[in-house]
Amino acid sequence: MKLLVIGYDAVGAELLRSVPAVKDFVVKDLDVEVPLSGPSWFSIYTGLSVVEHEVYDALGYGDEGSKTYSDLGGRMVWDVLGKAGYTVALCGLPCAVPPREVRGFHASGFPADPLALVWPPELLLPARWLKMVDLGHYGSYLVNRGWGADWGQIVSNLGTVADILSMVRSDCVAVAEWFVEHSRQADFGWIAFTFKDRLGHRWGLTNTVKGACGVIITETLEMLRNLYPEDIMIVSDHSFRPVQKGIGVEGHTVPAVIAATSDDLIEGVDSVLDVSSAILRAFGMPHLVLPCTRATPEEVAEAESIMMKRLEGLGYV
Ligand SMILES: [Zn+2]
Repeated sequence: MKLLVIGYDAVGAELLRSVPAVKDFVVKDLDVEVPLSGPSWFSIYTGLSVVEHEVYDALGYGDEGSKTYSDLGGRMVWDVLGKAGYTVALCGLPCAVPPREVRGFHASGFPADPLALVWPPELLLPARWLKMVDLGHYGSYLVNRGWGADWGQIVSNLGTVADILSMVRSDCVAVAEWFVEHSRQADFGWIAFTFKDRLGHRWGLTNTVKGACGVIITETLEMLRNLYPEDIMIVSDHSFRPVQKGIGVEGHTVPAVIAATSDDLIEGVDSVLDVSSAILRAFGMPHLVLPCTRATPEEVAEAESIMMKRLEGLGYV
């Protein structure tokens, strides 16, 4: 594997720098236009600003006119790599749902539809995939297509905080192990985890939760190193401050983070908009993405207001 990208939703530089397993990485803050998972991950995936990709939906469902993964067919960095002949292995990418044809495979992450979890359709996943791949899927998808009002209660019903942290830890490592077993032939791998955002929304970032996040980063990274990628890049979509509660967007903040095993890999990468170009550059493909028109402050404010209205309508804030 030439390049492995590991996404950790909601992880900022402070947490990443505190993890000894990341000590060999160059770690940098990453500017974010809008610190919400859907908009920010799609800027990372495409190099397009939020007003260009028009994904305003925090979850990627495409409610009320927000664009979705399906609408943006062919625009992702892995589509560009696939067209150039590289095979890709994708797993758990937030909001890139449902998986569609790629040159390789794609196993769904949050918010996964139980009826459309993989591409190609014959790819077999562990039976507990929905539960392994995201804490929010312990029943919430079937209840309300997401992590709305019932989610916190559903999670709490699973056991004590210690039980849940240990379950999330073993699930994340199991997903990483599955990915390793299936990705050895791929040129490009991208796996993402959403545990920190989920735990943070449920309990706030207490020292216990932060400690568990550090352990999960360490153990998933250790497992993924079994792919022996030439380079590894770690990226997040926003950071998270230690609020004590909040199902909605409380806690989301800027900046996000980027880290890499080589300084060259992320040279000039300052914003979520620069990540996909850096990935292509690692494959010697500097010019295949259209230059991004960065959004003006007014356009970002308008995008944020559309998103807040949507979240209010859904009862999240
Ligand atoms: Zn996020």
